[in-house]
Amino acid sequence: MGNDPEIKRKKLFGTNGIRGVPNVDLTPEFCSDIATAIGTFSDTGNIAVGMDTRLSGDMISSSVKAGLLSTGKNVIDLGILPTPALQLYCRNNHVFGVVITASHNPPQFNGIKCIGSDGTELKQEDEARIEDIYYEKKYARCQWNTIGTISYFPGQIAEYHRSIISLVDAGKIRSRHYRVVVDAGNGAAYSSTPELLSKLGCAVTTLNANPDGLFSSRNAEPRPENLSSLLDLMKTERFDLGIAHDGDADRAVFVDENGKFIEGENTLALAIQDVARKGDIVVTPVSSSDLISDICSSSGLKLLQTRVGAPIVARSMIENSARIGGEENGGIIFGQHQYCRDGGMTAAKILDIMARSGKRISDLVAELPKYVLLKESIHTDIPWSKLSSMLKEHFRSNRMDFTDGLKIFFPGGWILVRPSGTEPIIRVYSNARNEKNADELSNIFRSAFQKITG
Ligand code: MG
Repeated sequence: MGNDPEIKRKKLFGTNGIRGVPNVDLTPEFCSDIATAIGTFSDTGNIAVGMDTRLSGDMISSSVKAGLLSTGKNVIDLGILPTPALQLYCRNNHVFGVVITASHNPPQFNGIKCIGSDGTELKQEDEARIEDIYYEKKYARCQWNTIGTISYFPGQIAEYHRSIISLVDAGKIRSRHYRVVVDAGNGAAYSSTPELLSKLGCAVTTLNANPDGLFSSRNAEPRPENLSSLLDLMKTERFDLGIAHDGDADRAVFVDENGKFIEGENTLALAIQDVARKGDIVVTPVSSSDLISDICSSSGLKLLQTRVGAPIVARSMIENSARIGGEENGGIIFGQHQYCRDGGMTAAKILDIMARSGKRISDLVAELPKYVLLKESIHTDIPWSKLSSMLKEHFRSNRMDFTDGLKIFFPGGWILVRPSGTEPIIRVYSNARNEKNADELSNIFRSAFQKITG
């Protein structure tokens, strides 16, 4: 190893915190050490800790708490709760937070995510400072008589509900007596979202609402291919809305009263139309559908597009005092509530929009302009620096944008190509006014890719 400062350090923090397999990447020793670095870095005396339902949550949380306590920080243990409920605690109490979750990843994974005392995911440069402390072992361990203590606060889910309910027309929602299905996917919102919607006067039917760290019932990613139970139930019985979360419930996706899955860009568009006021700035990643730019220009809103990653969108929203922003995967950020993706707030807001308009969710979606956003992954071992130069050369006569990866514009649509940070694949997004044109763009890319890579 020696003293070479250029020794390859593995980057620990990805787009959404540290992810890995417990006892392989996330050993008790590693979790305790990284938490000691987090405790050393954080500038608040108390640190909130929470987790999703994963089986490894207790082991990782125990190690994380030990590391934090060793730096003299007191731990407020919030238990199992949706990530945005923990983020609200951090914001309201001005404390740093750590959440143990791997969001939508399979059950064998877990993760450690840091939340600043403003309730938003840390900036990447702050995560890099924590990595420096970890690799250089510059831990600020305290003396025996100032080691921290743990207190338990089980009331945060109720606080989270109160906060959400204050931002919607609860009376109007209650007056509609909606029948809703919540598919919690065995994850962190297993009690939170059903309770929230009951408080809003809904008759709630639950699916997969038992906390199960093995995610036995379905994949934690709320895509239509993983939601067959919810889709089938919505088709066979009369309900007004179906709601499904990812593992840590910062995202919410919806199914209409006919059992049709609603793509996330549609709910983001409905939320933008409802929340934003003329002249507002709206923030989304560069991967968001042209539906969003269309809605923004027709409503007199300015659209700002960032690199892909919810923490980047949230930080840009703070800088621009944006009221609303988010991603096309069901991760919506309501600035009036807090600057993070918020599955519970999204569920309540969609019911709020339905209740105040008196319209069914399918009608609200039908009123939106139609766009199709296709997403696919292509395996490649070619480094991105080389591949992107070849693509730039191939598409040199097209207009391009380099905010994140390579966005190539065509008449009536665009293709976005981004390298994955963790796997030898590129992600390709094709956006057009209909399925046929989006397919054509996808084919244009595939043949160009084949041609330049042989
Ligand atoms: Mg998530």
